[in-house]
Amino acid sequence: MKENENKTHLGDMPKEDFRRFGYEIVDWIADYFENLENFPVLSQNEPNELKNRLPKSAPEKGEDFSDVIKDVEKLILPAVTHWNHPNFHGLFSTSTSSVGIFGDMFASAFDMKAMLWRTSPASTELEPVVLVWLRQMMALPEDFSGIIYDTASISTLHAIAMAREKLNLSIREKGMSGRTDLPLLRIYCSEQTHSSIDKAVILLGLGTRSIVKIPTNERFEMDAEKLREAISDDKAAGFLPCCVVATIGTTSSSSVDPVEKIADICERNKIFLHVDTAYAGSAAIVPEFQHYFRGMERADSIVTNPHKWLFTPFDLSVLYVKDLDLLKKTFSLVAEYLKVAETVTNQMDYGIQLGRRFRSLKLWFVMRYFGQEGLIARLREHCRLARLFANWVDDSPNFEMLAPVPFALVCFRACPQTTEDLDAFNEKIMNEINASGEAYLSHTKLNGKFTLRLSVGSIRVEERHLEKVWNLLNEKVKDAVK
Ligand SMILES: *Cc1c(COP(=O)(O)O)cnc(C)c1O
Repeated sequence: MKENENKTHLGDMPKEDFRRFGYEIVDWIADYFENLENFPVLSQNEPNELKNRLPKSAPEKGEDFSDVIKDVEKLILPAVTHWNHPNFHGLFSTSTSSVGIFGDMFASAFDMKAMLWRTSPASTELEPVVLVWLRQMMALPEDFSGIIYDTASISTLHAIAMAREKLNLSIREKGMSGRTDLPLLRIYCSEQTHSSIDKAVILLGLGTRSIVKIPTNERFEMDAEKLREAISDDKAAGFLPCCVVATIGTTSSSSVDPVEKIADICERNKIFLHVDTAYAGSAAIVPEFQHYFRGMERADSIVTNPHKWLFTPFDLSVLYVKDLDLLKKTFSLVAEYLKVAETVTNQMDYGIQLGRRFRSLKLWFVMRYFGQEGLIARLREHCRLARLFANWVDDSPNFEMLAPVPFALVCFRACPQTTEDLDAFNEKIMNEINASGEAYLSHTKLNGKFTLRLSVGSIRVEERHLEKVWNLLNEKVKDAVK
């Protein structure tokens, strides 16, 4: 049967076609991975270029699927910024692996909306097992239970909701608006904290005025003494401390807050402690990096993102909580049509979503395929490469480091002596390198200085890729001082 004739039939794509296109697509992706370095890292498209090339409405009749695949190549591919390119060093590099992609393929094929145990025993039971494995690898104590959400932003939202629920202010029932019996709730984090904290606070109705941003030291770490003062001032003013968010591996510079000291303060004041280690958490599996995570075991909740730096495709964020019952108390709400007789875990009870994607499968694949040794070796290599690059910066008179390198992120800038406006110069060379498609760097502001960020995290990254970036940067500086 021809593909198009089948369009008059009901049901799915004929199985012969599924097989044929399936093989074709896997071949396509395999070629793509092999040829990644031939693509410009950043899409060279102009804004709206793709949109303007697409029809204004859906096709009346079904099309040949081979034409659709051709359009992936013709229309979609030029609009792709290649996160998997080994010279993608902006933001945090993605680390996805082929086996992770296979996990997503199975998850899509099963298409379970994990909500009740009975609708999805596989997801309900695999997820806690995989998260116990990860918990052990991260050397976290047994009293942490894990749950998977899509992103760290959502994990943190759930954590702060738990912290609010723990205050026993009947906010679940009475809400916050129109109440005069509620004090101002306070959330403490550092001025380097990720914006997802602010978003969670907005969404939870606490208002941005409830956020207290604690200053950081010259290494961009939260000043614990200032936190202590802020809490005691707030208490004196009649405010109610709700939650402290500490970060291990901040987004800007990967700095590490003094979690042990912060945990002491939280314990003394009975404040919920959430640790955001969305990026760096993966490094907790590497024995020699364990010291960065000291005190984390005392947190009430921890977020880490295997989709950032544990070779798992987007999305998969893990929230570890000490009090799983509190999480359930915060979110459980069982409609009649969802009531079941079994005494089992139903994943819908642990968050905002009803249905959940079967995400644990891809992390299970990753852990089984690479093993703990394989994962540790790869993270270790990324950190070695980042330190190597930092050494080049340190040894060069034309560049300087702007932050320590605890993990695999290098914050630095060019500082040729002849250049007066270093901010403008660094922005210019970054934009030129990014526009060339050769590599992608991003930036941040540290101590008011325009800072280049180079993240090392791709599963394909090798020393030669860092040499390439280093050469590009040095050529730019050479051109400028000529
Ligand atoms: C990346 C990052 C986040 C946000 O991650 P999403 O999963 O994209 O929501 C939060 N906190 C830190 C420290 C991060 O590095």
